[in-house]
Amino acid sequence: MAVNNISASSSASVTPGPPIGCAMLMMDLFRSYLHQQRLPVTHQREAIAMALFESEQHLSVDDLADLLRDRNEQVGKATIYRTLNLLVQAGLAGELDFGEGFKRYEHQAGKARHDYLICTSCGTVARFQRDAMDRLQTEIAAELGFAVQSRRLQIYGLCGDCQAAEGAGRAASSPTSAGAGPETG
Ligand SMILES: [Zn+2]
Repeated sequence: MAVNNISASSSASVTPGPPIGCAMLMMDLFRSYLHQQRLPVTHQREAIAMALFESEQHLSVDDLADLLRDRNEQVGKATIYRTLNLLVQAGLAGELDFGEGFKRYEHQAGKARHDYLICTSCGTVARFQRDAMDRLQTEIAAELGFAVQSRRLQIYGLCGDCQAAEGAGRAASSPTSAGAGPETG
């Protein structure tokens, strides 16, 4: 991912060419988090999150308000602040304090050490952290001469609830070739 080092003070210029795939994935995780918390996925929340995910800058609430105004999104600062808190709680944004008297925020794409289990059926996202994963990462990186900067692991499958639902809905179908992916063609 290319990172443009534009100083955070120049909030007028927006980094062009955002890493869309990355932002979209982050957005999926945010929606899942909102679902889990039984909070509505509102257009405003999505607009705020997307503005943060697409930026490689450390954004203040004021910066985000400017960004959103440029995009013709009408979002109050209180809503921005609350949404940022949700993003931090979800592990998708990080809070930064540079001693300016206010906080700045950055997305955590590629930075989170947390690993995810994602249900392909209902969208539930389970975050997990295991020391064993960190040790393995260190081991592999050392083996291959890599200086690790970040890790993002997503394991896709069916959550317990969906497995149970599938088992109940499907009358004992014969197990077929192991290792065949869910998608064919
Ligand atoms: Zn599920």
